[in-house]
Amino acid sequence: MATRSPSSPTPHLVAGRLALDFANTSPTSRNLSWDEYVSFLVDARLVSEDRAARLRPLLLSEPHAVDAVLLRILRLRESLRAIFASLADEKPFPGSWVEPINEILRITEGHDELVPREGSWSLHFVARENGLEWLLAAIARSAAELLVEGPRAPIRRCANPSCRLFFYDDSRTHRRRWCSMAVCGNRHKVAAYLRRHSPRRRN
Ligand SMILES: [Zn+2]
Repeated sequence: MATRSPSSPTPHLVAGRLALDFANTSPTSRNLSWDEYVSFLVDARLVSEDRAARLRPLLLSEPHAVDAVLLRILRLRESLRAIFASLADEKPFPGSWVEPINEILRITEGHDELVPREGSWSLHFVARENGLEWLLAAIARSAAELLVEGPRAPIRRCANPSCRLFFYDDSRTHRRRWCSMAVCGNRHKVAAYLRRHSPRRRN
C-alpha cells in the first residue's frame, strides 16, 4: 500500500470515513483542482478509473459545469472542516454550518443499498448519476451520518501538529493518536528516540 505524506494533494485515505477523508484533501490548501477531486473520487472508490478518464476532460469541454460544481465542492469542504474541527475539540458549532451538506442532500436523488462490510452489512447511498452534483452525494451523506452520531462520534485529529488530519477513531481502546502509524506515528517515535538519546540529554 502506498503511503503519501500529509502534504501531498490527495493524502492516503486514513480517516476511516468518507467525509473525513474528503475534509483531509490538500489539507494545507483552501483550493482543490478538478483533477485532485477526480483523483480523490478514484482513491475513495466512488468512481472507476474509466469513469475518471471521462470526467477529467470535462474541465475543458464543460468548464462552466465544472466551475459550478467546484464551488459546491469547496463550500462543502470548508463547512466540513469547520464542523469536524469543532467536533474534534468537543465544541458546539452554529446550525447554519450544515447548510452546504443539506444543499447537496437536497439536489441529489438516490437510494440506499446494502453492502457487505467487515462481516456484517452496512447501508450505502447510491446517487442517481445525473449532472456532476451526484459525485458529491455520497460525501454529503457520509458527513450527515457522522453528525447524526452526535457529539460522541470519535472524530479526532492527528496529534502531529504539522499534520492535523481528521480520522474516525474506531480503535478498540479509542486512543488512536495518529492519522497513520506509518507516517506520523513513526515520525513521533523517531523524534522521541532521538530526544532520549541525544548527547545533550546525557550530559
Ligand atoms: Zn498525521
